[in-house]
Amino acid sequence: MAVSEFDLIRQYFANATGMRPDVLIGIGDDCALLRVPIGKSLAVSVDTLVEGRHFQPGADPTSLGHKALAVNLSDLAAMGAEPAWVTLALTLPKADTAWLRAFVDGFAALASEYGMQLVGGDTTRGPLSITVQVHGFVDPALALKRSNARAGDRLFLSGCVGDAGLALQRLRDDMPSSADDAYLARRLDRPTPRVALGQLLLGRANAAIDVSDGLIADLGHICSASGAGARVELERLPVSAPVGAECARGNWQHALAGGDDYELLFSVEESRLDAMQSACREAGQQIQEIGRLVDNSGIVLVYPDGRLSEEIPDGFDHFRT
Ligand code: ADP
Ligand code: MG
Repeated sequence: MAVSEFDLIRQYFANATGMRPDVLIGIGDDCALLRVPIGKSLAVSVDTLVEGRHFQPGADPTSLGHKALAVNLSDLAAMGAEPAWVTLALTLPKADTAWLRAFVDGFAALASEYGMQLVGGDTTRGPLSITVQVHGFVDPALALKRSNARAGDRLFLSGCVGDAGLALQRLRDDMPSSADDAYLARRLDRPTPRVALGQLLLGRANAAIDVSDGLIADLGHICSASGAGARVELERLPVSAPVGAECARGNWQHALAGGDDYELLFSVEESRLDAMQSACREAGQQIQEIGRLVDNSGIVLVYPDGRLSEEIPDGFDHFRT
């Protein structure tokens, strides 16, 4: 690939997103120079998507641009941080301008939704891989840590779980098409990071995590970090119609262990319940109580018929099959 092609690509990225006043120097110098608001901490997270591992060869580039940023925004959301800046390291097999334009469309649309500026990155040649790093601001005293849940806290979920896992399984099994396909594909390819909810939970929730590995695995992370256990009432799990149909057949796999949902799982102490719930109602945030934190370690599931599961050890991440 000629060097000038990469120069072109960089120019293309230079104007991809809007400008922020806290960016002293953006794309074009050796480093970006950025101003963090006084009293806030910088919240930083990075994720890589690799072709063949995290997405299929030939995946829609606009969706990839969206998802590469969305999974990172979800981490900011889970901390209660306000999104600000983003960097992008792209490894491309070739300078395919149609692909790039579509990728940047998806990426920049989501970035501008949150007022983020692309402030730098790197572009190299090789097998397709996308690394996005996000930077946000949060009051360090209020940030939503995994380790701050307490026995007695109520456990809540945003949105619904299991859709992305079910979508992936349907693709893998080459299932006959159904009326739910478009909805499920959207949930897998265009996840919605719960950024506003995360910020609303500052000072209201004790602990939070985004559900990227599956509900039980991520609940396990809260439990082990907080030294608590949990009791989850499966009847209360928020699920869509297609995932609900699986649950009704006794297949809880998608709801409990499907990853890639990017919903928020959070714990709230009883004294803050009413205030938290009315704030969510006012903001139009859809949340559902699904259980509570308990003293003894391990996770117990209460099935709709009242039967209890065997205790699942903290952080047990082989629940996925
Ligand atoms: P250097 O050799 O100093 O690392 P580069 O030639 O890699 O500089 O990049 C030049 C400028 O373009 C830098 O400001 C860098 O942050 C930016 N840049 C390069 N690739 C990207 C990209 N994919 N997205 C955003 N900015 C990029
Ligand atoms: Mg470089």
